[in-house]
Amino acid sequence: MDRDAELRVTDFAEVDLGFTEAEVIAEAARCIQCKKPKCVNGCPVGIDIPAFIHACEMGEFREASRIIKKDNMLPAICGRVCPQETQCQGECVLGNKDTPISIGHLERFVADWERENGIETPVRLPPTGKRVAVVGSGPAGLSAAAELARFGHSVTLFEALHEAGGVLMYGIPAFRLPKDIVQTEIDQVKKLGAEVKTNHVVGRSVPVEELLGYDAVFLGTGAGLPYFMNLPGENLCGVYSANEFLTRVNLMGAASFPANDTPVKFGKRVVVIGGGNVAMDAARVARRMGAAVTLMYRRGEADMPARLDEVRHAKEEGVEFSCCTNPVRFVEGENRSVKGVEAIRMELGSPGDDGRSSFEPIEGSNFVVEADVVIEAIGQGPNPLLLRMLPDLARNQNGSVAVNCLGQTSIPTVYAGGDVATGAATVILAMGTAKDAARAIDKMLRKVPQF
Ligand SMILES: Cc1cc2nc3c(=O)[nH]c(=O)nc-3n(C[C@H](O)[C@H](O)[C@H](O)COP(=O)(O)OP(=O)(O)OC[C@H]3O[C@@H](n4cnc5c(N)ncnc54)[C@H](O)[C@@H]3O)c2cc1C
Ligand code: SF4
Repeated sequence: MDRDAELRVTDFAEVDLGFTEAEVIAEAARCIQCKKPKCVNGCPVGIDIPAFIHACEMGEFREASRIIKKDNMLPAICGRVCPQETQCQGECVLGNKDTPISIGHLERFVADWERENGIETPVRLPPTGKRVAVVGSGPAGLSAAAELARFGHSVTLFEALHEAGGVLMYGIPAFRLPKDIVQTEIDQVKKLGAEVKTNHVVGRSVPVEELLGYDAVFLGTGAGLPYFMNLPGENLCGVYSANEFLTRVNLMGAASFPANDTPVKFGKRVVVIGGGNVAMDAARVARRMGAAVTLMYRRGEADMPARLDEVRHAKEEGVEFSCCTNPVRFVEGENRSVKGVEAIRMELGSPGDDGRSSFEPIEGSNFVVEADVVIEAIGQGPNPLLLRMLPDLARNQNGSVAVNCLGQTSIPTVYAGGDVATGAATVILAMGTAKDAARAIDKMLRKVPQF
């Protein structure tokens, strides 16, 4: 159940209140326990979904948690932000005729239940004497660190920012993912024995030579470099990347400036550009900071890559959608500040290879939307700093790190996973690729054949 839109837009508390115990048991009872469960095929980390659902139906939440945590160390996070509708739930056979099982809500309940009733730390294998460095503490780095620590390796996790968590902390707002929940899951990784060093920028404060001195390295540095549209006026005051805007608010408390040190401009009229989860998050944060918000997207609403729930929530919260609209320049006001966005209407054509509509500008359809803050959320690429310092690291055409099926890069002791290897993707994909790479690192260190 969601909190009332008028109320929730005034604060940063969680929007989705989740299921009650009775609702969980009733929902779990709908599962027909398929012999060949398609839901598991849809889960990038391969959780035994029917088994954990059966435990839920029996009210055995401790057991349900043990089953989930065999494959997923961050269930409270995944239960909240995974795009289940296109993954496990999207595959659930009940969806063919009726409503699929709400697997995400069940996972979330189990994780929250465990947090309230005492978290069990998984057993660690005896120390191997091998040292592994993990760079980046987003879902990829945290999963790799947890897995490698469980295998008995000595793990040091380096994070450039002052808090661990990556996008889970600085990108996804608290009203979708409360930060104490992220912190609890980070604490679990520490309890497994991983040493977490924040304020350590590998490639700057930690030299690359030191990094390569470890027995193995996992790179989980993410895709935190925002893309810009390169339009006239982009350097005006008040034009932000979503990355900067969200980091200032989520990680540095800028929404409560001057109570917190970090400022951010409080817009009266905000334009957000983009149609993905990042754009929805930026728009919903700006609404909570009191702005009237227009979201500009160059295709139609059906083409938006954002989760359906995020689109619905944004609309309920009063974000105005201006679809088939593309900005062409940012309009200058006083003191080099932005005062508007000039945009052009787009006509949609037949879908391309990715299934999304093609589009063409409609000549002469230009119009201006007033805005004192503009937030661009049009995508992001790999964080470049460390990659530049490793010239032997092969890259894909889009700049991401090239890896083989084990997650191994062109430097044999260096592995990579998450957004830095896949390009900007999802939390669960980051975790899945990291888990596979961690298992391959373990085999390499133990000199066990990979296949
Ligand atoms: C606003 C936003 C909303 C999103 N919403 C969703 C959602 O609802 N559902 C979903 O599944 N996915 C969502 N995503 C995508 C998802 O968050 C990412 O796919 C995921 O976080 C990638 O994980 P990662 O560990 O690879 O990288 P990140 O989470 O980006 O973490 C990388 C970490 O590496 C650190 N780092 C980088 N370089 C260095 C260095 N040289 N030294 C030390 N540390 C370094 C960074 O500071 C960062 O903390 C969203 C993304 C954003 C930005
Ligand atoms: S596909 Fe649906 S019904 Fe079948 S086991 Fe998975 S959750 Fe249950």
